[in-house]
Amino acid sequence: MTIEQLIELEIKVRELVAELEQAITHADLRPPGQLDGTEGRLSRQDSLMRHQMEMEAQRRRQLRLQLLKEALHRMDAGTYGICKACGKEIEYSRLELQPEALVCSDCKNKNY
Ligand SMILES: [Zn+2]
Repeated sequence: MTIEQLIELEIKVRELVAELEQAITHADLRPPGQLDGTEGRLSRQDSLMRHQMEMEAQRRRQLRLQLLKEALHRMDAGTYGICKACGKEIEYSRLELQPEALVCSDCKNKNY
């Protein structure tokens, strides 16, 4: 990986971190309100389901945010882009899609 590529990825990671922090802050995680008699049982189930999906989406955002922040630490430490499993460089094309990746494609396929 070249310095230019590393800088590209750092910009990308910082953008993703900012986006995720925004999304996490603005996520509507309020549980559905009590039945007020105007909504039917089905729409109640519907809003409960939506709430669960939003909670799950929020959990995934927080997890990815954590991984991206760790990627930034590795960039600072100079250990970014090295496969955790085999020690080789992770392909740039892979990091472009998933800058928080910890292992290279080969190791990913071998299920590390
Ligand atoms: Zn590897």
